[in-house]
Amino acid sequence: MARYVMALDQGTTSSRCILFDKEGRICSLAKKEFTQYYPQPGWVEHDPHEIWSSQMAVAMEAMSQIGADSDDIDSIGITNQRETTIVWDRRSGNPVFPAIVWQCRRTADMIEQIEKDGMTDVIRRKTGLIPDAYFSATKVRWILDHVDGAREAAERGDLLFGTVDTWLIWRLTKGEVHVTDYTNASRTMLFDIHRRQWDEELLSYFGIPRSMLPEVKPSSCVYGYTSEHLLGRQIPISGAAGDQQAALFGQCCFEKGDVKNTYGTGCFLLMHTGNEAVESGQGMLTTIAVNADGSPGYALEGSVFISGAAIQWLRDEMKILESAAESEIYCYSVPDTNGVYVVPAFTGLGAPYWDQYARGAVLGLTRGAGKAHFIRATVESLAYQAYDVIKAMEQDAGTSLRSLRVDGGACANNFLMQFQADILKGSVTRPSCIETTALGAAYLAGLATGFWADADEIRNNWQVERTFEAELPEERRLLLLKGWKKAVSCTREWAKDL
Ligand code: ADP
Repeated sequence: MARYVMALDQGTTSSRCILFDKEGRICSLAKKEFTQYYPQPGWVEHDPHEIWSSQMAVAMEAMSQIGADSDDIDSIGITNQRETTIVWDRRSGNPVFPAIVWQCRRTADMIEQIEKDGMTDVIRRKTGLIPDAYFSATKVRWILDHVDGAREAAERGDLLFGTVDTWLIWRLTKGEVHVTDYTNASRTMLFDIHRRQWDEELLSYFGIPRSMLPEVKPSSCVYGYTSEHLLGRQIPISGAAGDQQAALFGQCCFEKGDVKNTYGTGCFLLMHTGNEAVESGQGMLTTIAVNADGSPGYALEGSVFISGAAIQWLRDEMKILESAAESEIYCYSVPDTNGVYVVPAFTGLGAPYWDQYARGAVLGLTRGAGKAHFIRATVESLAYQAYDVIKAMEQDAGTSLRSLRVDGGACANNFLMQFQADILKGSVTRPSCIETTALGAAYLAGLATGFWADADEIRNNWQVERTFEAELPEERRLLLLKGWKKAVSCTREWAKDL
């Protein structure tokens, strides 16, 4: 009997591999950072070969750490940095260009053109996305326009496109399987999320030949098997999902109203909306998520640009913290912020404000304001920003939050989690396994092979490390929120005409 499911977690800065057992426990973890290329300001690339080789290296390392061999691995699940685009030659397997990373802004002018062409609403309606250079469509187009001979080769059917999941599966199967899952497809800006198929109108608008595209399948199903020579046995590759959707699944958020928040550099909030693709009136994205049975469902997605990054800012720029973790000690050292608010709108404000001219501010200073108040106000800003996004989602979805499940680096901060519960007037749950992205990928893979029988078995695995319940008196909560709203309003349009 195979004892582990292997999760390949291919992130933006590192490739990781985790082996999980039947109880969903981490048995082995290996990680390898890889090179980031910045050929011009605002451009970001990765080497697809390095993505592959680093991913293979960590797979071998994770197995050897615990003396596992291929017979011990039931199946493989993949989760990946989303939207990053790779185009390669079907025959040689060689990429025709480096991977264009989701962060890369090189196609920003194409987005302006979309607006001019009156395509914004069409894209919005079909794909659930607000046109942006993040998504894969303009990146594929850029490669076809700029790489010598690429367009002709693509039109002859010689080139393949894939997000990182697709690339890894293609390599793992030695070029036999060209496939992606619904969640990754929903981030390309080429996929009709309602009809759940590639959209001919968008393909023709972006000038992308249909033959380049992978087949789209559910996130939990056997896509193919690893080539025998690779890991010593043909192991089923049976799970794939974009990182945020995998984390949602790993948090057992399978049903309408289930919400998770990842507190990393920024925040990624996803609310499962069941089988209904909710159109947002407040600038959230509508995206494909995974239902309990592995079938495609929907989620609303909102993000906060600066979250844990505000704590990094305290540490690296303001130099008033030795470490991010130290912020918690300062937070507890004072009873409140002494009326201070920090709005970390360093790069403008996202949902629900959408103000690219907003800038960061510290408000409410009086003679008594000290270092600890300033730090506490910065930590609290993470919770206020998540609150704003959650309230907007609740309004969009017409449902209210039952409980917020958390992960990501900053969820380790107990003060922050308690304050989040207080401000939300709800409960915040931190699971014992906060490697939810990899865990989600493993669950998707193991459900397809029967390693786990069903979602109930997975739910039983899900263990709470700590739950934070709201304790703050309502009057105080409303007063704090009033102050936050006022502070935000002071930052609006700051950089306009300056
Ligand atoms: P990412 O995956 O985006 O790189 P992580 O999930 O690793 O981010 O989270 C790291 C972020 O969390 C950093 O921005 C850091 O400042 C913040 N962070 C880490 N630990 C704490 C803590 N105890 N309190 C507050 N913020 C923290």
